[in-house]
Amino acid sequence: MNLRTFTLAAIGVIFSFINVNAQHSHSHDHPHHHPREVVFPDIPGYYTMSTDLHIHTVFSDGSVWPNIRVQEALKDRLDAIAITEHLEYQPHQEDIPHPDRNRAYEIASQQVDKEELIVINGSEITRSMPPGHANAVFLQDANALLVDDVKEAFRKAQAQEAFIFWNHPSWLRQASDGIPPLSEMHLELIEEGLLHGIEVVNMQRYSSEALQIALDHDLTIMGTSDVHGLIDWDYNVHDGGHRPVTLVFTEEYSKEGLKEALFEGRTVVWKDDLLIGKESWLVPLIEASLTVTGSAYMDDTTVLELEVKNSTGQSFILENRSGYSFHHHANVLTLNPYSTTTILVHTLNRLNNFELPFRVLNGVTAPDEHPEIMLESTID
Ligand SMILES: [Zn+2]
Ligand SMILES: [Zn+2]
Repeated sequence: MNLRTFTLAAIGVIFSFINVNAQHSHSHDHPHHHPREVVFPDIPGYYTMSTDLHIHTVFSDGSVWPNIRVQEALKDRLDAIAITEHLEYQPHQEDIPHPDRNRAYEIASQQVDKEELIVINGSEITRSMPPGHANAVFLQDANALLVDDVKEAFRKAQAQEAFIFWNHPSWLRQASDGIPPLSEMHLELIEEGLLHGIEVVNMQRYSSEALQIALDHDLTIMGTSDVHGLIDWDYNVHDGGHRPVTLVFTEEYSKEGLKEALFEGRTVVWKDDLLIGKESWLVPLIEASLTVTGSAYMDDTTVLELEVKNSTGQSFILENRSGYSFHHHANVLTLNPYSTTTILVHTLNRLNNFELPFRVLNGVTAPDEHPEIMLESTID
């Protein structure tokens, strides 16, 4: 060890000691949010609305009354839900006869103050493959979809200006190899403007092939719980889990604004620790979630001390793409939920401002692609 490396190592020891304390004081920003709440920031020009648009109750094959769905959504702090009973599958019909297929939606919507939660009327068109199951949401009257011909059911939904998406395309009961069986009929539905989105996430399922179909055919990327039991039990909420949600970027905070944004494909799906969406929506969401709250050189060194705050309940796994090495972290580091992380960067020269590119490994923009974001600031 020559004198120079010894000196740098000594400085490193001193500063890592200082920084352990600095990190400690920053790493537990008070969240002000219950851990189960879905918390993402708005992005420039748009509201970020959290939604779950695939939900069952006892009015088809679910196990709970519709008011429970409202209470779950309020606990999760969602902005909107859709009640989507199976049209053609009604196992509780003898116990709970309901000739009006809008009834579950009506009960749910009577439970809420419109300020608290938007409730949307929907139905699940429940057919064998092709085309399998599809949700039509923003319906006026679900009864109109009770017709024999499947394409006619889609047309009845379209006549009500519903937003229609392909459900669980990788469901093993309808796709034994787990690959969405994109058929001639699906292509016709897309061609005719009768299919606008696809579930890339349904329950625990994530389908990279469904994501590719969304990208190839310009379908809106969707993720839903498709809950039948309780959200808390199905998604281990007591253990930090959460339901899959679709984040929708709307010009207006309203049901109409939501519908417009869904037709325009402005979504990102959140499942476990994954964020899935087109680059044009995922990058602004991540950049809005992370803020550089401080940047300064450590005394007379060329080590830049960078504080990055994650204001969401989601962790971000970042891969360093800057070419600089770090003083405490390896090339991959995690920014924990609701916390501030200090990154020490060897910039070699003192910069007046910097741009640090990172690849976000738990973000997905295409089957094998992760988005790149830029952390930038001028030096304090
Ligand atoms: Zn289904
Ligand atoms: Zn379903």
